[in-house]
Amino acid sequence: MNQIFENTATAFALKSDSELERAYFLFKMISNEPLVKMGSFITNFAFKAHLPVEGLIRATVFDHFCGGVNERDCIPVVDRMWEKGVCSVLDYSVEGKDEEDPFDSATEMILTILDFVKEKEAIPFAVFKPTGFGRFALYQKISEKIELTKDEEAEWQRVVKRFDKVCKKAHDLEVSLLIDGEESWMQDAADNLVEEMMRKYNKKKRIVFNTLQTYRWDRLPYLKSLHERATRDGFLVGMKVVRGAYMEKENERAKENGYTSPICKTKAETDDNFNATIEYMIDNLDSLSIFSGTHNEDSCYRLMELMEQKGIAKNNTHIWFGQLYGMSDHISYNLAANGYNVAKYLPFGPVRDVMPYLIRRADENTSVAGQTSRELSLLKKERKRRKI
Ligand SMILES: Cc1cc2nc3c(=O)[nH]c(=O)nc-3n(C[C@H](O)[C@H](O)[C@H](O)COP(=O)(O)OP(=O)(O)OC[C@H]3O[C@@H](n4cnc5c(N)ncnc54)[C@H](O)[C@@H]3O)c2cc1C
Repeated sequence: MNQIFENTATAFALKSDSELERAYFLFKMISNEPLVKMGSFITNFAFKAHLPVEGLIRATVFDHFCGGVNERDCIPVVDRMWEKGVCSVLDYSVEGKDEEDPFDSATEMILTILDFVKEKEAIPFAVFKPTGFGRFALYQKISEKIELTKDEEAEWQRVVKRFDKVCKKAHDLEVSLLIDGEESWMQDAADNLVEEMMRKYNKKKRIVFNTLQTYRWDRLPYLKSLHERATRDGFLVGMKVVRGAYMEKENERAKENGYTSPICKTKAETDDNFNATIEYMIDNLDSLSIFSGTHNEDSCYRLMELMEQKGIAKNNTHIWFGQLYGMSDHISYNLAANGYNVAKYLPFGPVRDVMPYLIRRADENTSVAGQTSRELSLLKKERKRRKI
């Protein structure tokens, strides 16, 4: 396959020299693990102690990884990326709430974003997290098949209503909706609810997309059985395919509680699983849609190769490539320049509320071997090319 990701002029065309310098500085900091650990600790402490750190965070990590503090802030960013053919997925990244009010406001936010999706070609999907609409512990209790109390049953019905409200609106507007994947011990309840939504709203179009985390060894069989049910019962399946973001947590919990970890034993097994899933989906494109969420170059090249081998058009509406804003621009912008469908998750929300997201990004960039050094080497190459 033609190695398109090396083109740094295309990758960083939207970055001014000073933005390029900021990105270089940021990834240099992130590559230092003790510094990230200390930074996360100090930031958490500073927020709890109401110290004025918001400005500093905004000017550094926040502006690099997020589109703004609200959905309107994101629009200039969306428009800029769209100039280069890269789409955005507005990601309301407020996490970890346990009260009902934030669940209702998150639902309202997704309903608003669905209007943007309808209006703007540059925003092809809306997205939400199951725990944005309901309590983690409630999903967990259902996943563990523990009987709910009367109050919890009523609470769950409110979660179902929130899902139904956004999926129905997406269906009525004929736009697509991604639903993120989370920890395995709450995911069964989410999967069953998403399947219910697919049965209702994916009869003619692939409106509702679930997420398949291929670091779990049981996911390809799950996808195949879901596909069987979909074929039998007449609905279509949209699936975001990712490797998975909670590996350490998953392995630790399995060890602590003495059960077999749901995570593949090696990175190579996860990679094989990812590739096998994409291959299965490409072979069944008549009823499955792929959103390949990865920063792994090999995985992107493999999907591009498969498309070429099977004579599938680069802009086939059932295949999307996805990356996160602030990461792997060399993949996103070069894919778009070569005619593929690409969308970047563009997180937004009040600085304090998106901190867990930002800390995950910093940790991930520290722990994912090669990811930060790859970003750094590309930024270095572009600095050299621009003679900065
Ligand atoms: C657009 C987009 C949407 C996303 N949505 C979600 C989501 O909804 N839910 C979610 O959980 N994550 C999500 N992610 C994050 C994703 O799951 C990965 O954590 C992240 O993208 C890194 O994986 P990679 O394929 O990009 O890169 P790679 O660097 O190739 O892979 C790193 C990943 O491989 C796996 N891995 C690493 N070491 C091992 C090992 N020893 N054994 C087994 N597996 C290993 C882990 O999953 C690790 O994150 C999303 C990512 C993107 C780009």
